[in-house]
Amino acid sequence: MKPFAYVNPANEKDAVAALSKEYEKALPIGGGQDLLARMKDYVTQPDRLVNVKNALESTVVAAGGGLKIGAAMKMVDVAEHAQILRMYPAVAAAAIEVGTPQIRNQGTVGGNLNQRPRCWYFRNEEFVCFKKGGNTCFTPAGENQFHAILGGGPTFIVHPSSLAVPFVAYGATFRLVGPAGERLVPAAEYFTMPSLQNIQRENVLQPNELLTHVILPAPGTVKSGHYEVRYKTSHDWPIAFATVLLTMNGSAVQGARVVMGAVAPVPWRSQAAEQVLAGKTITPEVAAAAAEAALRGAMPLSQNAYKIQVAKTAVERAILRAAGLQTV
Ligand SMILES: Cc1cc2nc3c(=O)[nH]c(=O)nc-3n(C[C@H](O)[C@H](O)[C@H](O)COP(=O)(O)OP(=O)(O)OC[C@H]3O[C@@H](n4cnc5c(N)ncnc54)[C@H](O)[C@@H]3O)c2cc1C
Repeated sequence: MKPFAYVNPANEKDAVAALSKEYEKALPIGGGQDLLARMKDYVTQPDRLVNVKNALESTVVAAGGGLKIGAAMKMVDVAEHAQILRMYPAVAAAAIEVGTPQIRNQGTVGGNLNQRPRCWYFRNEEFVCFKKGGNTCFTPAGENQFHAILGGGPTFIVHPSSLAVPFVAYGATFRLVGPAGERLVPAAEYFTMPSLQNIQRENVLQPNELLTHVILPAPGTVKSGHYEVRYKTSHDWPIAFATVLLTMNGSAVQGARVVMGAVAPVPWRSQAAEQVLAGKTITPEVAAAAAEAALRGAMPLSQNAYKIQVAKTAVERAILRAAGLQTV
């Protein structure tokens, strides 16, 4: 591993001051579950690490009828927090399924949201792909069984964060802080689609900014369902997953929010699925029709067409869970 400096600021301001205007020169470190692995693999080689665990908050406070979660909070604490469980059960459900108990005990909210893609070409120092300053993506002609089926190109990564999906579904806002002060960015606008202008990044965070809080609006009477499909129940990322929120008017859906994970370079909202659900009473047939709509535009690569059915199943079961019709 390349030698690096380590600073341990005690507050947000000092942490920001220790960052750099240049990408990857100085990087914040939370639990280090992602960053240290990239450093050991020579994929990311910063000159300085800025520990944010003492500089940022790790608590949950009430805010405007909702909750404000500090970015240094560990995922295990998110999964077990009584108010999060009660008000935003899909967030707790996503947190408890992340990785392994060790990862959840170490990994932070800020690190989870800002972790880099798991694409094996990106993670291998031998492959200088778009994401590392190269001029190609090795995925279309390569091993692509876990890559994007929606919104892919010029890179075909899927966003790796489990927490990002329910945060987008609940309409969370991220608080960022940089040398010029704070800015608030809706979660749905934080994550960016790959484009040649911004191909090395997955979000709008500037190199000298930190994500400090996730602000969740008042949940109202929304019902939620979260469903993940994985090869194995631990030590793995999902193949596809979905968070579904339903606002009911009696037995009919008044409004729905359907967001999928592990299928696209960003948390992928399906308004087509939401429209299928609007005004309906949830039945297995309605859930299946919405899932069908959610995947209608899918463009699989050579080895990942199977993910279409997996994602449909995740959406369908998340809808049924939200409606209280499926408990497993
Ligand atoms: C076997 C395995 C299975 C896994 N399964 C899942 C899974 O199912 N779902 C899932 O979501 N993840 C999964 N992960 C990934 C793991 O959850 C993440 O690596 C972890 O959440 C990262 O958090 P961290 O605090 O350790 O981040 P770090 O490694 O400390 O940081 C990650 C990145 O975020 C940046 N960063 C950290 N904090 C901030 C901040 N406050 N503001 C701005 N940037 C910041 C860092 O500079 C770095 O680039 C898995 C990992 C492994 C090894």
